[in-house]
This record gives sequence, C-alpha cells and structure tokens, in this order.
Amino acid sequence: MLIAHFPDFDLAGWHRPHFSPRELACRCGGHLCHGEYWHDEGFLDALEALRAAIGRPLVVNSGHRCEQWNASVGGARQSMRRTIAVDLTLTGHDRFALLTAAERLGFSGTGLARTFIHLDRRAVPTRWYYRRSAASWQT
Ligand SMILES: [Zn+2]
Repeated sequence: MLIAHFPDFDLAGWHRPHFSPRELACRCGGHLCHGEYWHDEGFLDALEALRAAIGRPLVVNSGHRCEQWNASVGGARQSMRRTIAVDLTLTGHDRFALLTAAERLGFSGTGLARTFIHLDRRAVPTRWYYRRSAASWQT
C-alpha cells in the first residue's frame, strides 16, 4: 500500500474499469489536502468484484480521508478511512443483496446506514448501524 496525492498518482498505470482514484480520494475539497489517495490493490479487486456481482454502477459517496479532514468530521483516529474504505449509495440498489455480496467478497467492516453502506476490510469482522438506521435494515 502507498499513499499518493491525486493528481500526482500515476494514472497511466490505472486499469480499473469502474472506479477512479478521484472518487476514492479525500473529499475535503482541497482545503486540507490535495486529494490524498490511498492505493490498495486488494481493496480495488474486491470493489471491482462487487461491481461485477451486482451488475450495476456503484456510486462512491466517500472514500479515503486525510488526517485533518477525518479529525474535523469527528472520525475515530484509527478509522479505516485513514487508509481506504467506501460509503456506497443505496439508491437504486437492493440493500440486502449489496450487503450479502460485499461480505462474501471479503468486506469485513460493514456499516449499515439508511442511505448508504460503508465497506472496509479489517482483521476482525464488524457490522454496525448508524443513528436511526436499524429500522431500514429490518427484514
Ligand atoms: Zn483531505
């Protein structure tokens, strides 16, 4: 894994059809970093596999966070966002199909929100709800 800063990242070698460094990079808008991006091939493999399994576009609401942005939005210091994680919008998706496929493909950190699903890959599998989101995940 390595950290690159988005426009300096070597896009010539990019071979991911459905995701770009820009959409996975920090979204602080250049206030605190210049689009810091965390490169993790295994994560990208899993994300592309999820896209293939679902067969529809996956929209990334947020990805990596630079240290300052993570702190300013109250993120935990050890947050997976300091490396790489994504929030995918649930609009237009079957949330249960997305969760099942994500877990099967190795996303072991799953945050279940009303309008998005957080995915990361961590050593100890963890699933959580956000404030007032549990009802939207009742079967
Ligand atoms: Zn930033």
